[in-house]
Amino acid sequence: MSSLFAVYGASGCGRSLMPIAASQVKRTAPDAKLVFIDDGLTSESEVNGYPAMNYDSFKCIPASQKSVLIAIANGSIRQKIAEALIADKIALWHVQDDSTIIMDGVNIAEGSALSPFVTIGANVTIGKCFHANLYSYVEHDCVIGDFVTFAPRVSCNGNIHIEDHAYIGAGAVIKQGLPDKPLVIGKGAIVGMGAVVTKDVAAGAVVVGNPARLLIKE
Ligand code: UDP
Repeated sequence: MSSLFAVYGASGCGRSLMPIAASQVKRTAPDAKLVFIDDGLTSESEVNGYPAMNYDSFKCIPASQKSVLIAIANGSIRQKIAEALIADKIALWHVQDDSTIIMDGVNIAEGSALSPFVTIGANVTIGKCFHANLYSYVEHDCVIGDFVTFAPRVSCNGNIHIEDHAYIGAGAVIKQGLPDKPLVIGKGAIVGMGAVVTKDVAAGAVVVGNPARLLIKE
């Protein structure tokens, strides 16, 4: 029986990460099978040439070992699916592109997706199921929580702490913190695309603009 790998989610995020996952499988486990899982599918089909099925069908496939990358941008959905996978004793799969650079002393928990041209600087700690999309970087001494999501080209400078479930929009720039006073983006906060964050963002807050300010909802 061969091992089985899957990309969970066959929409934008999943289809973008599949080629990276495929190249990783080719490199590390050439005999393994690779499929898409998507619960929007009622019957088995194909997406971009890969078999695609819902989670119940995936669970029925016999395999010596199953590993799944959750490729869905919404961190809360990633958490819900991660909990189901763990309960079913299926491994959370870490996928990173060949172009990714990871410096010394980096610790990344299971289930992350590092897209092409992502750089992780020295002595960074990253939690479960982190998504760093195209061209994003995390500079030295940052601490990133669980289920954090970076859209493309996020610039996360040194000594920044980003708490669980925060979402950082495309092109956002976060100012470097200090070793004894890191800049903190609170739990579940949302940083809008292109924002320039110069100070702490409270848990659950939504900030936009340059310099980033609280978005006042009408
Ligand atoms: N999805 C799923 N199981 C869930 C929640 C979502 O399979 O419990 C799938 C959903 O059917 C969709 C994909 O995940 O195909 C999410 O796609 P969306 O376009 O919302 O987001 P993105 O691909 O940008 O993360």
